[in-house]
Amino acid sequence: MSFKQREAKRKKKVAVGAKRIASRKSGGSSFWWLTPVRKTTCCSRTDCGRVLRAGKDEMVFRKLPEDVLCVLCADHPGRGVSYRPSTRWEQQRRKGKAS
Ligand SMILES: [Zn+2]
Repeated sequence: MSFKQREAKRKKKVAVGAKRIASRKSGGSSFWWLTPVRKTTCCSRTDCGRVLRAGKDEMVFRKLPEDVLCVLCADHPGRGVSYRPSTRWEQQRRKGKAS
């Protein structure tokens, strides 16, 4: 592989990364994210209240206004939310696959 090819590849990688970060930022704080549970909590739906255990479960989280849903509530047709996987969730998933 020539230097030029390597350089082009590297630039492309950087551009993709920047685009991803920008889209996450512009997605704003009102966006819902799928993320591993870091601190045991429970689903904020009063009719659900499922316990989400740290290190074991996944949750769907919104920063502002802060809200936490279990994946079942987030996926619920009609009253669910649209969310995307967080970087942390992707990293954990990759690690899980590798081991
Ligand atoms: Zn729930």
